[in-house]
Amino acid sequence: MTTLSEDVERRGAMIPRPHRVRARRQVSHDTWTLELDPVDGRPVAIGPGQFTMLYAFGIGEVPISNGGGGPGEENRLVQTVRVVGAVTRALCATEPGGVVGVRGPFGNTWPVARARGGDVVFVAGGLGLPPLRPAIHQVLRDRDGYGRVLLLYGARTPADLLFLDEIETWRQAHGVDVGLVVDAGGPGWSGEVGLVTRLIPGIELDAGTATAFVAGPEIMMRFVAEDLHTRGLDLDSVHVTLERTMRCGVALCGRCQVGPTLVCRDGAVYRYSDVGPLLSVKEL
Ligand SMILES: Cc1cc2nc3c(=O)[nH]c(=O)nc-3n(C[C@H](O)[C@H](O)[C@H](O)COP(=O)(O)OP(=O)(O)OC[C@H]3O[C@@H](n4cnc5c(N)ncnc54)[C@H](O)[C@@H]3O)c2cc1C
Repeated sequence: MTTLSEDVERRGAMIPRPHRVRARRQVSHDTWTLELDPVDGRPVAIGPGQFTMLYAFGIGEVPISNGGGGPGEENRLVQTVRVVGAVTRALCATEPGGVVGVRGPFGNTWPVARARGGDVVFVAGGLGLPPLRPAIHQVLRDRDGYGRVLLLYGARTPADLLFLDEIETWRQAHGVDVGLVVDAGGPGWSGEVGLVTRLIPGIELDAGTATAFVAGPEIMMRFVAEDLHTRGLDLDSVHVTLERTMRCGVALCGRCQVGPTLVCRDGAVYRYSDVGPLLSVKEL
């Protein structure tokens, strides 16, 4: 049973706060990064792995991950959105100066600090890179606190790879071991072709101390977790972020239920050991 104050808090969490688009940057053929400032001047304190419900007024509301955390992005909401339907199209079309609604932040955070002292491997598939970006920046701000830092990143085509300049900075300035792979290469691509799991056998890491943070399509996260486990990582040390259609964000509507868990309340970040068995149940 919820207390009265919890109930009032949840109701408050249902009201979108207007945010003005400060900047809008196209980062691939179908994806834009939005920087949002609160109209009331109170910044959203959002952690790596958390998400907001972004509202295109008059059209609808969708969950979008925190994609910020980079240098100069403090006290600012940065979210990267791919156009797939009506709401994401409207959000990405909002010009600087336009206003969108923001609820949240919701959900838990990537347990970055707990990975301190060991190797860290980030594995991103497609639009999985933006939700990992704040966690990558948290590690790089404290680079000496971690061992090897690896980023394995796969996308459908070279044109779908996001933030390549920033990735190059991570490689050169912070010694991040980067592996890139695409499903389909094409002219100008001389790198790896295949699924992101193709990169796992070749990586160097101390499996005993390593922590993995994985974001991407569910099927990709399953295969990545299994392959990292084969490389010796404990499944408790593999963290994934689940995507489920959600409406309320505050554990009221039940739309994002997966077995015994509500993704908006208990996730979206989970230990693979906790959710792996649920992901192989069809239609769940
Ligand atoms: C916790 C969480 C974090 C997310 N973070 C981001 C993010 O940082 N950036 C981002 O661009 N998107 C993110 N998404 C996905 C985003 O919420 C959906 O793309 C959005 O809801 C689609 O709404 P729409 O009205 O534009 O499209 P709709 O009209 O609802 O859908 C259009 C098409 O896209 C498909 N679709 C809808 N939702 C998803 C989904 N979650 N995954 C795959 N296909 C989907 C539909 O099946 C349909 O075919 C996140 C989702 C969750 C649950």
